Amino acid sequence: MIVFQFWLITHLQIQYETILEPTFLYKKLWKAKVNKEDPCEEAKSGSVTATDLSKKAVFDSAKTKIQRAFVVDKNEHVVSFGKDAVGNIILSDINRGNRYNGIIPAISNQFADMHNHPGNSPPFSHDIYGLIDIVSHNSNYQRFVITPDGTAYALIVTDIDAVKKFNMNYPRQRPVKGFEVRFPDNIIDEIREAEFLAKGQKDIALVLILGKYNSGIALLKQNADGNFTRVNAKESKGQLGEKIYIADNCK
Ligand SMILES: [Zn+2]
Repeated sequence: MIVFQFWLITHLQIQYETILEPTFLYKKLWKAKVNKEDPCEEAKSGSVTATDLSKKAVFDSAKTKIQRAFVVDKNEHVVSFGKDAVGNIILSDINRGNRYNGIIPAISNQFADMHNHPGNSPPFSHDIYGLIDIVSHNSNYQRFVITPDGTAYALIVTDIDAVKKFNMNYPRQRPVKGFEVRFPDNIIDEIREAEFLAKGQKDIALVLILGKYNSGIALLKQNADGNFTRVNAKESKGQLGEKIYIADNCK
């Protein structure tokens, strides 16, 4: 029985790879990433900005507001960061969303926002296209996403011209009943395949796709030292010798 199960898993694996190879073109996908200049250098200034904000009391108070509200209703909640007339950082009121999204509250000189993902998932389509709409007139704007398991992500712009091109060439699918704003279908399919190659790590899958399509957007993750650094992927080998992608985050 055990032998049979093992055979089945191996067999499925081989079948999947055979199907995957011609359509997924993951070799090209990886090349698209390494051909760029240093991905860490590219995201450095945005990473420093995000980290600086995260060390301020106002950042903690945003997190606390969201986490407290989440405990009560298990929904998404959003706050915005802005600046007052003399340049002090101020926090908006909290906006209560539903299970899947929320509305970004306005505040003067808004430069960042933060919301939670109740299901512990990293940022996805709707977060990215929502950010694109804002950064087209403020390219320094940053979006933070926190999850109940304590993970914190940030989406930042590394190349605003690339962002605009990406938005033009790969326009969002408008939400239809029961769905949110989504990537075009071909990108959604590739993300699923990338998730398979990344052994289910959704943030790795997302950065592979953001890199492949030269989106001009970087995903950052807060590390153990509290710093936000770019999520990067590198090629590796799985237990059966198959090609997989693992995290190789910037320092
Ligand atoms: Zn979100």
